[in-house]
Amino acid sequence: MTCKKCQTEPVYVLQNHAPLCKQHYLHYFEKKVLKTIRTYKMLTKGDVLVSALSGGKDSMTCLYLLHQYCQKQNIPVKALAIDEGIEKYREQTLKDAATFCKTYKIPLTILSFKKMFGFTLDSYLKDHKMNPCTACGISRRYLINRGARELGATKVATGHNLDDEAQTLLMNQFKGNISLSAKLGPMTGALMHKQFVRRIKPLYFMTEKEVALYAILKEFPVTFVECPNAEGAFRLQLGEVLNTWEQKYPGTKQGIVNSFLEILPSLREQFKSTKQAIGTCESCGEPAAKIFCRTCELLEKIKVKKK
Ligand code: SF4
Ligand SMILES: [Zn+2]
Ligand SMILES: [Zn+2]
Repeated sequence: MTCKKCQTEPVYVLQNHAPLCKQHYLHYFEKKVLKTIRTYKMLTKGDVLVSALSGGKDSMTCLYLLHQYCQKQNIPVKALAIDEGIEKYREQTLKDAATFCKTYKIPLTILSFKKMFGFTLDSYLKDHKMNPCTACGISRRYLINRGARELGATKVATGHNLDDEAQTLLMNQFKGNISLSAKLGPMTGALMHKQFVRRIKPLYFMTEKEVALYAILKEFPVTFVECPNAEGAFRLQLGEVLNTWEQKYPGTKQGIVNSFLEILPSLREQFKSTKQAIGTCESCGEPAAKIFCRTCELLEKIKVKKK
């Protein structure tokens, strides 16, 4: 078996069974990401981009490609990392993020739960019975939006890949949270709150395996550590199921995401109604579906506990 383009040793076989060598794999990957950015008009002149950087393979690959693209388009790029305070995990990924940003001369801002909220995720979970990923996700999304806006962003990029999206879609489906899927897609819709920064996901059509290979071939400083809270998480289990299906029935993940994209316009229309109207948190002024945003609700639980 040799690369279909140059007959040298392949590093990857595409879903259509075409083998690709390193050089042609990198080219395939970059071309597909570029097409996603252009097709969805993710960035335009005048934008200021903040890319969320966890220090993992996805966010590093995303930032690398966006940095290259934005340099040509004259769009400023900054990186934003969130330190949730997760022992034996975040310290290393933040180190990797800093190494990466230093190499490519990208300004990096780190916001921590401890400094912004007065707790680390680990300490919060010691005192409150809650799904770690729910508490983490709510507060991280909050800080990414707020941090990006304060850095002057008009767009915020995340490294979500095809696997992430397929998993989230199934999770919403299984839990009966279909309204949450209306907020997904390669680029969030025009949101109904001025404090929201529009999100873009340039790696939307790339599988996790493809992103991992790209990061390895480019020799990004990724340590590939797993968050200790991921073990046993619903998402991880769904990911394993999807991988099994993908192996048995190639194209499963792509099929889930493609079907979703077909119904996304009508989903967005349906959930534009008053039910989903976004207000302003009475405590912090950030967007909120209720009187208080979900992060302020978490903070309130801490105050009540301390009394
Ligand atoms: S696995 Fe869960 S707790 Fe760990 S970083 Fe991801 S969302 Fe946060
Ligand atoms: Zn080749
Ligand atoms: Zn709030």
